[in-house]
Amino acid sequence: MDNWRVYPFTLSIVLMFLFPVIHGWGFDGHYTVCRIAQARLSGAAADAVEKLLSVTSEKELGNLCIWADRVKFRYHWSSALHYIDTPDSLCTYQYDRDCKDENNTRGRCVAGAIRNYTTQLLTYNSDSPNQSQYNLTEALLFLAHFMGDIHQVWDDNIIETSEKRFYDSNLEELIEAIQQNITAEWADRVKGWETCGLNETACPDIYASEGIKAACAWAYRGVSEGSVLEDDYFLSRLPVVKMRLAQGGVRLAATLNRIFG
Ligand SMILES: [Zn+2]
Repeated sequence: MDNWRVYPFTLSIVLMFLFPVIHGWGFDGHYTVCRIAQARLSGAAADAVEKLLSVTSEKELGNLCIWADRVKFRYHWSSALHYIDTPDSLCTYQYDRDCKDENNTRGRCVAGAIRNYTTQLLTYNSDSPNQSQYNLTEALLFLAHFMGDIHQVWDDNIIETSEKRFYDSNLEELIEAIQQNITAEWADRVKGWETCGLNETACPDIYASEGIKAACAWAYRGVSEGSVLEDDYFLSRLPVVKMRLAQGGVRLAATLNRIFG
């Protein structure tokens, strides 16, 4: 029987939310979120994404969804944007309290970054004088990546284990299974996932609150530091991981569709 180890970040919620800095969703998690999103884009959003990607050598948004992790050390300022540092022991998130970096600069967390890059992308196709000051290709890649990060509760371990055990080590099969759930088992929830408040283009605070609640309810429940977790843990958390990947993809598409019309 495979043992499935949670690294010794286990007991602290703070460390859990810092964890994506070191071990994120990985290529597969981010690729999955972007693949789910790309299949749900409106014509206008798909055109805009294609145009913005045309300055890169990639046509698939999925292949560039890990880009923000790879540039973290070149764009040193961006490393605080991959996570939210919520207070230890509280299972809540508040933008004003929690969305800041180590120097207490407000808005410098993954929720603030999603807002910022959404605002930048809204200048696409507009006569806004601001447009020239932004690199909208990078804004798209950051937004796509951070939408994955904000839905992350675990590292990529559960994803990789499930690929090996249930999907012939084939990521495409896992993506297909999630897409089937979106159209069947979770179909009646999808509208709710897509919806933001009135006149809001992006609503990352909702996703961050869900993330911290999922961490408390699922990631740490019944786990002690350094414990080797076995099938029970893996099998009971896998549906939550798949749902977080689905939500990330559905919401990335919904956000891009609102941005590009
Ligand atoms: Zn990241």
